[in-house]
Formats: sequence, structure tokens, C-alpha cells
Amino acid sequence: MHHFVPEIEELVINWHVTEPCNFRCGYCFAAWEGATSKRELWKDKRETGRLLSSLYSFFDPENPSSPLREHLHWRGVRLSLAGGEPTLLGGRLTEIAGQAKSLGFRVSLITNGSRPNVIVAAAEHLDMIGISVDSPNQETNRTIGRVGPTGTSVSGDDAMDIVAQVRSINPNIVVKINTVVSSANAGENLSNLILRLRPNRWKIMRVLPVLSDALIIDTNAFRAFVDRHRSFQHLMTIEDNADMERSYVMVDPHGRFFQNGTGKQAYGYSRPILEIGAKVAFGDIELRPEGFAARYPKSQDGSVAQ
Ligand code: SF4
Repeated sequence: MHHFVPEIEELVINWHVTEPCNFRCGYCFAAWEGATSKRELWKDKRETGRLLSSLYSFFDPENPSSPLREHLHWRGVRLSLAGGEPTLLGGRLTEIAGQAKSLGFRVSLITNGSRPNVIVAAAEHLDMIGISVDSPNQETNRTIGRVGPTGTSVSGDDAMDIVAQVRSINPNIVVKINTVVSSANAGENLSNLILRLRPNRWKIMRVLPVLSDALIIDTNAFRAFVDRHRSFQHLMTIEDNADMERSYVMVDPHGRFFQNGTGKQAYGYSRPILEIGAKVAFGDIELRPEGFAARYPKSQDGSVAQ
């Protein structure tokens, strides 16, 4: 029987390469079960190579044995390097991005912007960079915890420098600003900052209730923030709480697929991809292909919001 199979531009695999982060955002949910006790996979070049190859052959749009294939078509695969803070990998980040690129992935980096040198070094391999900017005010960033151990935050000028440098190295790079709206910044106006940064996209997310409820805001405060910045509507992707429960393909620092539970619910992990292969491991997380396809997010321009 024939049925309509939705087609998306690209399938996005979020690889959370590392757990640690040098910032301490109060709303951060980057905490991986058992992760601190074991060596992270990125440290081993051979294992990293095997993981990337395994992921690419499984998610290759041409792979005829993909269980997702009859429910969803995609034209390309993007590996999104996330964390924790991926720039803590230093030079390995450039190597991993380059390796992924040569396998056929599009590559993106999600970063807090605290290590400009590492970002710039990797820029030639990146198709997209997502930089977190919640506020141009140092005080607000301190309230959020979006600061390093010595209390330094990423200022508007710092973010400007990063964007200018990566664009000069890689003029086609898609620059995305990621903003989490919490009680600390909900009343602020980021228009000047966004005008200066000229991102290709601006993702605005409402803070999720995680460990502490201190930064939580209600629907009205979130809507007011979005509304205050409506002149940037053409750049915006909005993620309210409910939307953030949608699934992506996610891989943890130890090369396991995992599914995000909602709110305070636990994560579900597969067995290691390097031990049983991507196909069997993908079956472990009970991500029903049809459900996955239905939940796969699309932004207004038809590309995948991520
Ligand atoms: S910068 Fe990102 S990973 Fe680091 S604490 Fe903040 S939200 Fe978490």
C-alpha cells in the first residue's frame, strides 16, 4: 500500500560529545547518567572514527535498510556537535568536524562562545554554528549562571567577534543565535544585539523546569518576550515547553543513543553503538519510526529547526 512519506531537507543527529561545561546555567539539563566515571569517546581517535562511520552509514539517505525510511525521507544528514561545551575538546573538535565532513555529514557546532579560538579553528568545517546568547548584560548572565568560574560572560562584542571571524573564514556558514528566555532576561530587549549580530536564524526557547524552578516563567512572559522582538520574526524559531519534548536523534558522550524524557523524567539509553552497531542500538531506544517522523520538527521555511 502506498502512503505519503514526508520529506525533510536534513536529518539532524545531535552528538553530545562531552558532558563538562565551563558555565553553570541554572536551567541546564546537560547531565548524563554515569558519564563522569567513564572516559568519553571523543578522546579516542579510532573509536570516534568508527562511531561517525557507523552513524553515517546508518543514517545515509541512501541506506535501503533504514527502519525510518518508509516513514520519512531526508536529503542530507547533519551532525550537530553539542555538549556540555564542545569547545572544551580543543583541537580535537576541529579534527572531529573535519572527519565528519569528509564522511558526508553536514556539520554544526552548538557552543556557549567562551572559547573563540577553538571555534575559529573549526570554522572551515562547519555548515552551521549556534551560539548561545541570553543577554548583553553581564549582570543578567551572572543571575542565569551563564558565566565561567571567574565570573566572565560572553559579551555582545565577544559574540560579534566570533561571528565576524567565522564568516570571514567560511562565508556560507549559517549563524544561529540560541536564546533561552527565563525570569532573568524575560523583560529585556535584545533587538540591538540581534541587529548587530545579523544571525541567519534566531532560536528562542522557553526555559524548561529542571532542577531548580527559580528561572521559570509563565506563558505570558514568554509571549511578551517574543512579541517585543517581532520585527525579527523572519529569523525566529520559537520553542515553547511543549515543543521541546519533541525527539531528535541524540547520541551521548559514550556513543549511545538516548531519548530525552520530559521534565524531570529519566533518560533512556541504548547499548553502545560501537558494540552492537547503529541499527540494533537504534532499536534499543524504542523510538517508533512513525512517531519519530510525525514529531520531527520543521521550521516555517521547511528546513529542520534544531
Ligand atoms: S552553556 Fe550550555 S551546557 Fe553550559 S551550563 Fe549553560 S546551558 Fe549548560
